[in-house]
Amino acid sequence: MLSLLSLFLSIYLCMHAVHRLHQFRKSLSTTTYKARGQRVIRCDLCRLARAYCICAIAPEQDSISTKTGFLLLMYDTEVLKPSNTGKLIADLIPDTFAFLWSRTTRNDELLAVLNDEKWQPFVVFPKEYADENRQVHTGKVVCNGGKRPLFIMLDGSWREAKKMFRKSPYLDRFPLVSFDPKLFLSEDEQPNKVLMKEGMLTPVGENSRYTVRKTALEHQFSTAEVAARVLEMTGEKDNAHLLDLWFDVFNYQYQKSVCQRNKGNVNALENYQAFLNEKECK
Ligand SMILES: [Zn+2]
Repeated sequence: MLSLLSLFLSIYLCMHAVHRLHQFRKSLSTTTYKARGQRVIRCDLCRLARAYCICAIAPEQDSISTKTGFLLLMYDTEVLKPSNTGKLIADLIPDTFAFLWSRTTRNDELLAVLNDEKWQPFVVFPKEYADENRQVHTGKVVCNGGKRPLFIMLDGSWREAKKMFRKSPYLDRFPLVSFDPKLFLSEDEQPNKVLMKEGMLTPVGENSRYTVRKTALEHQFSTAEVAARVLEMTGEKDNAHLLDLWFDVFNYQYQKSVCQRNKGNVNALENYQAFLNEKECK
């Protein structure tokens, strides 16, 4: 009995914020969430079909050096969707918080994180939606007074994200961080283009690589892709790259598991492993 309990405990301790939120949200559901490919038996953590589970090769958080934190505000059923990519951020970044968004219910735990002096929160959202007086960062993100950046990601469909942005007054006091996808293919990216052709690098381009979700805007990126761009803006290039590669691994395996025509990167696993090996040798 005791060993069963300790087994559960050890599984629970391995879980990150998004895994735990998923368990919590699932416990609130009276019916099973019907995702595409619902008959597939999934891994409870990465949410891929068991045959394509990527948990064993997930990044080791101990080896990640980062000052950055992320706070995922997840729209209702978002955390139940196997295609959600917010969990990939939590796989990599130890200080990732995840909360269900509510328009009306006050969440003290969430507010405590936002008010914690060690963080400088930023809302990651397109600058077009900022009011005139809102501070907007579009280049390098720098924190003052020794604070660490905490990026608030509004995780849901585009329509849901806009709703969360408009109807969360407690976020209004924080500056926005916004990026222009075109900037990520500027001159200093030129050498990478050569590597990209050789399949060595993640093809970070103007458009999202995530074709699993149909989006209204061509420049609309998945949550993990956006997080990678934001990491780059804080100067954490290695972490940004690793998250990109990890996203590619997930994307490729996900498409395998739902049996659709796979538009993911066939070199995803190889690229990811190569990057990890290279990092180890440094
Ligand atoms: Zn798994």
